[in-house]
Amino acid sequence: AEEKSLNFLEEIIESDLKNGKYKNIATRFPPEPNGYLHLGHAKSICLNFGLALKYGGKTNLRFDDTNPVTEETEYVESIKGDVKWLGFHWSEELYASDYFDQLYTYAHILIDKGLAYVDDSTSEEMAAKKGTPTQPGTDSPYRSRSIEENKRLFTEMKDGKYPDGSKVLRAKIDMSHTNMLMRDPVIYRVKHAHHHRTGDKWCIYPMYDFAHGQSDSIEQITHSICTLEFVPHRELYDWLIEKLDIYPSHQYEFARLNMTYTMMSKRKLLQLVNEKHVTGWDDPRMPTLSAARRRGYTPEAIREFCDRIGVAKRDNLIDIGLLEFCLREHLNKIAERRMVVFDPLKVVITNYPDGKSELLRSENLPEGDSTRELPFGRELWIERDDFMEVPAKKYFRLAPGQMVRLKSAFIVKCEEFIKDATGTVTELRCTYVPESRSGSDTSGIHVKGVIHWVSAQHAIPAEIRLYDRLFVTEDMNAIEDDFKNHLNPNSLQILKTVYAEPELAKSKIGEHFQFLRMGYFCLDADATSDKLIFNRTVTLRDTWTK
Ligand code: ATP
Ligand code: MG
Ligand code: MG
Repeated sequence: AEEKSLNFLEEIIESDLKNGKYKNIATRFPPEPNGYLHLGHAKSICLNFGLALKYGGKTNLRFDDTNPVTEETEYVESIKGDVKWLGFHWSEELYASDYFDQLYTYAHILIDKGLAYVDDSTSEEMAAKKGTPTQPGTDSPYRSRSIEENKRLFTEMKDGKYPDGSKVLRAKIDMSHTNMLMRDPVIYRVKHAHHHRTGDKWCIYPMYDFAHGQSDSIEQITHSICTLEFVPHRELYDWLIEKLDIYPSHQYEFARLNMTYTMMSKRKLLQLVNEKHVTGWDDPRMPTLSAARRRGYTPEAIREFCDRIGVAKRDNLIDIGLLEFCLREHLNKIAERRMVVFDPLKVVITNYPDGKSELLRSENLPEGDSTRELPFGRELWIERDDFMEVPAKKYFRLAPGQMVRLKSAFIVKCEEFIKDATGTVTELRCTYVPESRSGSDTSGIHVKGVIHWVSAQHAIPAEIRLYDRLFVTEDMNAIEDDFKNHLNPNSLQILKTVYAEPELAKSKIGEHFQFLRMGYFCLDADATSDKLIFNRTVTLRDTWTK
């Protein structure tokens, strides 16, 4: 078999291991607990955990919780559940907030070296002096404060002497640096806010750039993998590690996952939840992992998808059809087959004794020999569009005088149809061929069509939820107006009463089914013991109109 070529991160790691730079690698997945994980995060998870698995290293789950206002324990719990569901095991569960003391000490080290100062400017004043990419900035009037004064003021900031926004600690780098992020970036701010873990212990919090690389270093992460928007941050990442003289972690960047008809930004997803455009973070139309799970996606399919798209160095847009392809491939192998009639039309088998019923057997999967029982009786439901009063050419299902096989049952022939006053067909009268029973057919009759059905006496009513894409626009990153203008008004269609074969009464959350000819389905979290509700996970074929 041909070996898959290495992606650029694997090349870097293999070379680092070969020339002895590291004995083992260490990666981390660093979510900020300010929302639920989405499919983009799955890409990052598969990459970080996958590299460590491949090269025998470890991966930490580190919560990047340096922003107390947006972070909640609910999110921490959901993130842990999602990583586990995807099938990965972290080496350690860590929190950037556990390093607040250490980070505070690091800040003092920078002050002691004359590399950080307390600035009393407002954020507007700082922005005005920042310059532009083509014009240098100007020094803040506070830039020349003495080390002693900076130490005293920074300590007082920590002790709660100053209100929010009144003072910041800045790294003293270069106000005319070509990289704007190197123009004396803010590394600490005053924020009198309750933190989900440290409570009210702190009223100053480190900025992302001062926490991320330092956390990597504390954990001795060898390869710190992030998305492309952090390229300009790398210089600051390296500068801080160098000046603090701490373990040299290295940052590498890859292109974030973007998918067609999908928007992945926790902030915007939160807006959809808060403004009730969806029922919650796990609304099956959302791109979150909790929604994917509820909708019936499998971790295997998501991992396969992440593997197939590879690791890009430039931004791109991945066809969501590829994820669905991976999903169908997996579900086709594991989803047990069931019969459910969505748009029911009554069939009466006139030569089948009234009051009689029998149990037939049907295979659960095309391969293997597990089967289930299927009750058959005189009255059945079939799909309305499996009958045509005037059959089209090559229509091999039911029409006056035409025969069809009922899946795992008998051949039936349409003898008559009944219409109501409005001209709607309300019932078919058919005869069955008793010796045509599937598996022991001695009738010698060959029919081309096979349709699904359920016994009217035994069927259980259920609700079906059919999902379409949440957005109508292919590239949601290219839009300039409000993303909510692009919501698909028909992203959810509910079928209130379908008829399911009785075996489905036993279905449990987490099971996957193929409803013959109708798609892949799973029980929804809203289902109760008296009401079955199924989500369509994905159609059998790609049926989206482009
Ligand atoms: P969002 O913009 O959706 O809030 P984020 O990057 O702010 O995402 P984090 O919680 O900081 O969210 O992300 C944790 C990790 O997942 C980071 O390393 C981040 O780079 C990565 N990540 C986030 N979104 C994607 C994506 N679409 N593709 C690949 N990796 C991603
Ligand atoms: Mg982030
Ligand atoms: Mg974000």
